[in-house]
Amino acid sequence: MELRTLTIKKTHEGLSKKEFSAVELTNSYLEKIEKENKSINSFLTVCKDSALSQAKEIDKKIEKGQRLSLLAGAPGAIKDIILVEGVKCTAGSKILENYIAPYDATCIKRLKDQGIVILGKTNLDEFAMGSSTENSAFEATKNPIDLTRVPGGSSGGSTAAVAADFCLFALGSETGGSIRQPASFCGVVGLKPTYGAVSRYGLIHFASSLDQIGPITKTVEDCRIVFNVIKGKDELDSTSVESKVSSSKSQVAGLRIGVPKEYFVEGTDPEVIKLVKRAIKKYEENGAKVEEISLPHTEYALSCYYIIAPSEASANLARYDGIKYGFSKVKNQESKAKTLMDVYLQSRGEGFGEEVRRRIMLGIYSLSSGYYEAYYVRAQKVRTLIKKDFDKAFEKVDVIFTPTSPTPAFKLGEKTKDPLQMYLSDIFTAPVNLAELPAISIPCGDIGGLPVGLQIIGKPFEEEKIMDIAQIFEKGYS
Ligand code: GLN
Repeated sequence: MELRTLTIKKTHEGLSKKEFSAVELTNSYLEKIEKENKSINSFLTVCKDSALSQAKEIDKKIEKGQRLSLLAGAPGAIKDIILVEGVKCTAGSKILENYIAPYDATCIKRLKDQGIVILGKTNLDEFAMGSSTENSAFEATKNPIDLTRVPGGSSGGSTAAVAADFCLFALGSETGGSIRQPASFCGVVGLKPTYGAVSRYGLIHFASSLDQIGPITKTVEDCRIVFNVIKGKDELDSTSVESKVSSSKSQVAGLRIGVPKEYFVEGTDPEVIKLVKRAIKKYEENGAKVEEISLPHTEYALSCYYIIAPSEASANLARYDGIKYGFSKVKNQESKAKTLMDVYLQSRGEGFGEEVRRRIMLGIYSLSSGYYEAYYVRAQKVRTLIKKDFDKAFEKVDVIFTPTSPTPAFKLGEKTKDPLQMYLSDIFTAPVNLAELPAISIPCGDIGGLPVGLQIIGKPFEEEKIMDIAQIFEKGYS
C-alpha cells in the first residue's frame, strides 16, 4: 500500500486496523522528505525525533485498543510563521533565524490534542509577504510539478509539501491570498476561513485585520476535517468567534452561482478563463443557476490592500528592534553599533529582506501625519465599499465563482525584479480578505500540466457550504 497517497480517513482506517503503524507512516513521510526536500526546499525544519515520539504515543494507544480521533497519527507540516512550542519559528526571516517558539499557537494545541504528528516547519515568503516564496531568507521553494517554477506564496512551502506527498496535510496562513494562490499553483486544496473563524493566537502577525490560518490538503474532505479542529472561539484571540451558521448539506440543484464580470477580463490567461468557465458549466448542467454579477470596486482592491497590509505590517514589525527578538547587531563582535539607535537601524537593516523593508517604508509613509487621511483612512473607506459590493451580490447569489489566480505557476525569477507584477498575482484573492469572507481554491484542470484553481467564495462563516459545493466538483465533475 502506498501510504503517502491516502486521505486522512483512509490513513485513520489503516492505523485503526493495524495495517501499518503510526511510526511506519511517519517514517515513510520522513524518508521521502529526506530524499527529495533538497530539490524542492519545502521544509525549513524537520522535527524527526519529536515526530517519531508523537507517532510512538499513538501506536501505544492503538496497542491498548483506545479509540483514535480521525487525525491521530496524521503527519502534518506547519508554515513557519505559526508557533510550535520548542521548535524554531523563523517567519522566513533572518531577523528570527534563531527564534524558538515558547508556546503552541491555539490551532497547534487543538491539532496536538487530536494526536497529530508534526513533521516540520515549511518555507514561506519573509513574514508572509509575497506570492512566490522567493522572498524567503532561506532560498526559494520550487513547485514539485515543475521545478523551474514557483509554488506560489506565501505558503508555498506548505502547498509544495502537500503536492509532493511530504505530508498528509499542512497549515498555511493568508493575508491576501497566501493559501489559495499557492494551492492553485500546486494543484491542491486551500481554504481561507472567514476572518475570526480560526484563532490567530500564535500566528506571527503580518496585517492583523486580514490574517487567518487555514488548511492545505489533497482533498476537500481532508480540508474539512482539519478546519473543524482548528476553528472556533479562543479566549486568547479576541477577534475569534464561534460560528452560529448552521451547516445543512448543500445541493447543486437550485444553487445560485454568481460570476463577477470584473474577474473575467483581459490580463487573465484565456486558458484559465476557459477552465473556470468549464467548471461553472458543470454546475449549471447539474441544476445550478448561474448569474453574472458585478463587484464594481474590484479595480481598487489591490491598491487598497497594498496600503492597509503594509500599514498594519509596519506597526506589527516595530517589535523586531534587535533587542527583544532574534537577530541583533549588538551581540555581534564586529558590530559598529555605538548607540541604541545604531542597534535598531543595523539590526533591522540587515535582519529584514528587501520586500519587508519596502513594505515597512510604504506602511510608515501611509500612516504618517499629513498622509494618514489621504492614504490609510481612504483605503479603509474603499475597503468598506468592497465589502458592500460582496454584501449586495450575496443578496442575489449563494456563492461566487472566480479563477483563484490570473495565471498558472510562473517561472522562478520571472517576477522578482518587478514587485508590481508580483502584486498582481493577488488580484482575485485579496478582495476576499478585505471583505473578511471565506473562500476555497480547488484544482479545476491544467494547462500543459500546470494546475489551475477554481475559487469559490461564500458568505461569512459559510465554510461548510463552500466545502460542500467544492466537494461535489471534486467527486464527480472534474
Ligand atoms: N501576496 C500577498 C502579499 O504579498 C498576500 C500574502 C499573504 O496572503 N500573506 O501581501
